[in-house]
Amino acid sequence: MEKQVFDYIICGGGASGLLLANALLEDPHFKAKKILLIEKEDKNSNDRTWCFWEKSPGNFDGLLKKTWASATFKSEELHIDFKLEPYQYKMLRSKLFYTKIHLKIEAAQHLTLLKAEVLEIKEDGAFTQISTSKGIFESQKVFNSIFNPNALYAQKKYPVLKQHFVGWFIKTKTPQFDPEKVFFMDFDIPQEQQTRFLYVLPFDEKHALVEYTLFSEELLEKEEYETGITDYLKTKGITNFKIEEKEQGNIPMSCFPFEQFNTPSLLNIGTAGGWTKASTGFTFMNTHRNVDRLVSFLKSEKPLNQFQTKNRFRFYDLLFLDVLLKYNDQGSNLFHRMFAKNKPLTIFRFLDEKTSFMEELKILSSFSFNQIRWFLSALVKRVF
Ligand SMILES: Cc1cc2nc3c(=O)[nH]c(=O)nc-3n(C[C@H](O)[C@H](O)[C@H](O)COP(=O)(O)OP(=O)(O)OC[C@H]3O[C@@H](n4cnc5c(N)ncnc54)[C@H](O)[C@@H]3O)c2cc1C
Repeated sequence: MEKQVFDYIICGGGASGLLLANALLEDPHFKAKKILLIEKEDKNSNDRTWCFWEKSPGNFDGLLKKTWASATFKSEELHIDFKLEPYQYKMLRSKLFYTKIHLKIEAAQHLTLLKAEVLEIKEDGAFTQISTSKGIFESQKVFNSIFNPNALYAQKKYPVLKQHFVGWFIKTKTPQFDPEKVFFMDFDIPQEQQTRFLYVLPFDEKHALVEYTLFSEELLEKEEYETGITDYLKTKGITNFKIEEKEQGNIPMSCFPFEQFNTPSLLNIGTAGGWTKASTGFTFMNTHRNVDRLVSFLKSEKPLNQFQTKNRFRFYDLLFLDVLLKYNDQGSNLFHRMFAKNKPLTIFRFLDEKTSFMEELKILSSFSFNQIRWFLSALVKRVF
């Protein structure tokens, strides 16, 4: 079969594939490049609800479903409401995002969206070759966002937790929610020896997305998440409601070095590239930032495996996951100490990997003596 050659090929047109396609379309430097994007699905539904914190104006402000200026953190002993300024917490639903970028792709001469299934990606000298259900393609620069979990789950060196959840979009009979405030984490629920919390995103007084979420190793039966939501709503006096939509997710949380699979002609991106923040599961903004850096990097024409995403925060995340895996029943206490002893905005900056080393030491010092011992023990095990 004849191969078709492109300057760039993007495998997978989900969040990271489309963010990259969009960034390449927006930069006139890439106008003369021939680009192919391969996606097996139509991608025309709300299969994802992405939330992130960001200063305004942001690139997706025109597409947002809702923004919040305040947030709440709650554990058994702590309840803090805080202003997010200078950030806003933003919600983007995937359908509008997909549609907007698909329209841009349709209007572009140099980027083709091919609906096909990628069957194999393999290196062929200086090229990477993609076999698909609709032909064979190759390029010296391939970006892959198709996540293959096999290598991640086959190893034991790096802990793998999951951020897993079921969410209901509900409508209540009477006003129940404060639409100005997002419930970032509510740990004040039975922990069942794990790290469990509710995440509540109110759209108005009667509408909210309510998600029962865990950071743990194993998934639950679907009924357990759903009972978790119903029980939680009951404790808030909400029994009369209608479920308008449902979503569920299972996001890997790991510091596994996905970049080991990158080659001069292949770069893994998005979750497949390890761009999910290991300690939280947040991926969207991280990917957006990495895509911005990647677009500048591409202008240097360097081999793709020289693109760096590793920094000291990866090591902090690794220690955090070591501790959270071993003491999964203590997640609530760990987050409680962090929020009790630090300004919430410092925590958001820390999660954005924008704090100074001194601030990071201060965050570490907010943990209890016992908790610090767990981190030090994890550190010793990793270093020696
Ligand atoms: C329900 C849900 C909610 C989430 N909410 C948030 C959030 O609030 N904030 C946040 O930061 N992160 C969130 N995440 C995590 C993360 O942002 C998303 O998973 C994000 O979509 C990851 O982007 P990606 O490009 O790596 O993967 P995807 O968006 O999954 O893209 C991969 C694409 O590859 C395609 N594909 C797969 N196999 C093939 C094949 N063989 N051939 C061709 N195409 C293929 C898929 O159809 C898909 O479109 C959420 C995840 C889920 C599941």
